[in-house]
Amino acid sequence: MTTATATSTAAGLSQNPTLEQIQSCLGDVIREAFEHPQTALIEALPASGKSYGVLKWAAETSNQITVFAPRHELMDEYEDWCAEDDLDLSVSRLPSFHRDCESVSLDEKGNPADELTEKLLSIYRKGIKGEAIHQNASRLLGEQLPCLEHGECPFIEGLNIDPESYDVLLGHYLHAYQPDWTEERYVAIDEFPGDAFVQEYTGKVPPAVTAYVEEQDSLPFRDYEELLERQSEFQEEVKLWKQELCWHHDANHVLQAKNSSAHALGPLMTLANLEKDRLDNRWRHAELGDGKVAARNTEHEWSFLLPPNLGKAESVVALDGTPVLELWELVMGTEIERFPLLDDDDRQPYLEDVLGLEIVQTTENWNAYQGGDGVSPTVDIPVVEKLGDLHDSTPGVITSKEGLKQYEGRGLNSLASRTENYGNLKGSNRFGTIRLGIVLGNPHPGDDVVKKWGALAGYSVERQDGTSGEDTDYGYFGNCVKEALIQNEVLQAVMRFGRKEMDGEKGATVYVHTSALPDWVEPEKRIVSVDSWMTQEDGMKQVIDAILGLDAWDSREWKTGDIAERVSISARYAREHLKNLVEQGYLESWQGGRGNALHFSNVCVEEASEYGHVEFTE
Ligand SMILES: [Zn+2]
Repeated sequence: MTTATATSTAAGLSQNPTLEQIQSCLGDVIREAFEHPQTALIEALPASGKSYGVLKWAAETSNQITVFAPRHELMDEYEDWCAEDDLDLSVSRLPSFHRDCESVSLDEKGNPADELTEKLLSIYRKGIKGEAIHQNASRLLGEQLPCLEHGECPFIEGLNIDPESYDVLLGHYLHAYQPDWTEERYVAIDEFPGDAFVQEYTGKVPPAVTAYVEEQDSLPFRDYEELLERQSEFQEEVKLWKQELCWHHDANHVLQAKNSSAHALGPLMTLANLEKDRLDNRWRHAELGDGKVAARNTEHEWSFLLPPNLGKAESVVALDGTPVLELWELVMGTEIERFPLLDDDDRQPYLEDVLGLEIVQTTENWNAYQGGDGVSPTVDIPVVEKLGDLHDSTPGVITSKEGLKQYEGRGLNSLASRTENYGNLKGSNRFGTIRLGIVLGNPHPGDDVVKKWGALAGYSVERQDGTSGEDTDYGYFGNCVKEALIQNEVLQAVMRFGRKEMDGEKGATVYVHTSALPDWVEPEKRIVSVDSWMTQEDGMKQVIDAILGLDAWDSREWKTGDIAERVSISARYAREHLKNLVEQGYLESWQGGRGNALHFSNVCVEEASEYGHVEFTE
């Protein structure tokens, strides 16, 4: 694992720079980054124009560029910019087997819509790529592909373009594996690819290793078990095999093998089993050369991180608003130099003044919501309702997928103008004009994911005893992963709101219901205290409805008994609820008269929320 290289100086901006100053410096940073001999990482928060900036650089220098981006939405944007008069760049979108091949038909959820597609994707999962599937269709399927019956398949046509005829090639991260598209071109990688280059296998590896060693005359093992047991007896043979191994990805092996478990990564899976080292936390780590690494968890499930080989590119530039260098270096399999656009001290003013973001933290709790266990709809829904009421606006809400599932049917849909899960945000502009945002909980992926990244990097990551939530200490590398996958993702979610200036309005107020923000962010704190009315047994809603059902409820007085006879909870609970409503300011009361009874009258119970009473405690 490489270590972080020195940081070059920031763009030399004055303190609290304006957007115009920043954007004019950006051009210099992009130029320096492309001229840098190693992979360069431009660190620039959203709205600095870095994506547009790389195209502008390409247009000005007449250099050919290939851009890899996370989603089609962002690629559409790139395509529109290319067409603008002042850039006027010719562009081609790199083809996708799933999207462009006419023989593949997927339903809305991305699942196979017919039998042929199911067959094709099962072949694809053995590591045989789209092109090889087309070339070997009759052998693999026993029939010709329908997309080849009348002329050429659009996917194959896309593969056969002449890259030299295009100023700009646009693709997904996985297109970076195809050397033709990066050779002698400048390459930009927009946003952190995360696990795009990681392939996970549960039960496949041992049978695939067996299928590979069966076919390999140079390896003297019958199967996976024998490879593990007798490795030390055949060191010379293994050494020779390693020297001759040139294809880590071998589709021919799958096409020729009699064993149906064969996988194109068979050679690499075999190598990983020969090279693996035990880490202190009982995970395994294997170095596979050229930045390729593998990790195995204690359940014997493997992850292979296979960085693309961009060695023939003129130069490689990565773009990220909140990068963690250690992870970028791991994922790209190479040393990377940082080119920050802003000084560290300028980042908070940038959020406020340039992005126009007002960030408000509403809890001191960590609220790890990814796994679903920590999600608390009965608390969170009243918070969303309160914030919407407070701003007289319908907020957009970002939370975990599990969170959205649990909020469903509990009122969130009527309280939020738009909802999305953390996993679906990259490169998305759907919250661009939403001025009120709420981020519920953080996307902690679970300790095993933190350990997986650690094991890929060769570190034994463990949660230090007695640490939890915000203070969880995973050791140096694990804490880098935590920062990248949790705090920075929360901030990325916050920055999705209000990106677009419209009718002179920009920015957003974003409430963050988790303490998981990066250390450098200085949110305003308005901690909420929630009295939830959402549980049926609680009965507060019944009490309020009963009050509103009384004759002349707004002008008369009433006693506990008047309400108790209209609700299914006990008189004692009804009385408690009435007293709470007094305390919360919805009712008034006085005690006296016959039997020293409590008498209630209305203040503003008609304004009571649907889901609970929420107060700011500080
Ligand atoms: Zn096709």
